[in-house]
Amino acid sequence: MALTEHAQLAIADLEACGPSPLAELRSDNVVELLKLRSGPHSVNLIVGRMTVPGGPWPGHFGLEAVAFSASDAQMPPWFPPVTGFQPLHLADTLMMSDGFSRGHGTVLFPELLATRNKPQRQNFGVVFIDRLVSAYAMRVAPLATELRISSSLNTSSLPLREVRQIAFLAHEWGHYSGHMPYQDTIATRRRRVRATISELHADLAALAMLLRQPHPIAAPAAEILILDRILRDAWLPRAETQVNGVAARYLLFILESIGCLVQTTDGVEVQLHEALDAVSEQLAQVQLVDESSADDFTQRAELYFESHGWRPSNGASHRVPMPSGSLAQQWGSLLAS
Ligand SMILES: [Zn+2]
Repeated sequence: MALTEHAQLAIADLEACGPSPLAELRSDNVVELLKLRSGPHSVNLIVGRMTVPGGPWPGHFGLEAVAFSASDAQMPPWFPPVTGFQPLHLADTLMMSDGFSRGHGTVLFPELLATRNKPQRQNFGVVFIDRLVSAYAMRVAPLATELRISSSLNTSSLPLREVRQIAFLAHEWGHYSGHMPYQDTIATRRRRVRATISELHADLAALAMLLRQPHPIAAPAAEILILDRILRDAWLPRAETQVNGVAARYLLFILESIGCLVQTTDGVEVQLHEALDAVSEQLAQVQLVDESSADDFTQRAELYFESHGWRPSNGASHRVPMPSGSLAQQWGSLLAS
C-alpha cells in the first residue's frame, strides 16, 4: 500500500537524522524514492522537512506532511507538442500538517524539500488542484470584483476546475517550450533571478500559446492564468523577495504597458483578443535573456530588468517601482493594506 511505503521513506529519513536537531533532517529518501499512485481512491503521503510558501514565518522550513489522492496530469491534445514532460500529478488534499495548511503552496516539487544532495531529476511533481481552485474562488475572484476588473470569466459557464487546470498546464507547457530541456533547469531554478526569468517566460509562453488556440477553453484559461498570477502572487506577504511575487508584479507591468489591462471609467478590462503580437514580442525579449549562456545570464537579466526601471538583486529585496497612476500603483496601495 502506497501509504505505508511513503511513510517508510520518511521514517528512513528520520532514522538517518538520528538524535540530531530537526534542522539536520534531510529528506533524500522521500525525494529520490517516492513513487506516487494514481486513481480516484489513491492515497499518497509526503512527509519531510520542506519550505512552505507563505508558511507560518519567513524562511519556515519545517517538518510537514500532506496526504492526497492523485491522478496523472496529461497535456491536452490541442496544446502544441512538447518533449521531455516530467511526471506530474494533479492532487486533491486529504490531510495536511498545520504549517502546510496555513501556507498558500499549491505545488510540491523535490526542490522544496531539504536534501543532502541536490535533486538532479524531478522524481515527482504534485499540483494541488483543489487548493488552486479554492484560492481562485476565495481570494482571486473576490479581489477581481473589488478592483472592478471585468473579464469574460464573470460570465463563463465552463467548470472552474477545468479552466484552472488548463491554465496550470499551459504554464507548465511554457516551461517545457523553453530552449533548455526542463530537466537541466532544475538546479539553476534555485537561483532567484534565473527563477524569476523562468517564471515570466513560462507565463508569457503559455499566454501566447493559448491566444493561438481556437479551443473554447483557451481564452478563459488565458484570463485565469493572468488574474490568478497577478492577484494571488503580486501582493503576497514578502512579495518583493519571492520569485512568484516578483514575476507577478512584472507581468502586471508588461500587460498594462501592452494594453491587455485597460483602465476604463467602469474599472479595468482584460483585453486579450488582439494581444497576440504584443505578447509574442515580450516573450521574445524574455526568451533572449533565458537563452543566454550561464556566463552572460546575470548581466543580461539585470540589463533586461533595469531597462524597465527595475533593480533585481540576490540581496534582501527587489526594488519594484510603481509608476504613479499605473494599475500596479493603484492596486499596490489597496492590496498592501
Ligand atoms: Zn513555473
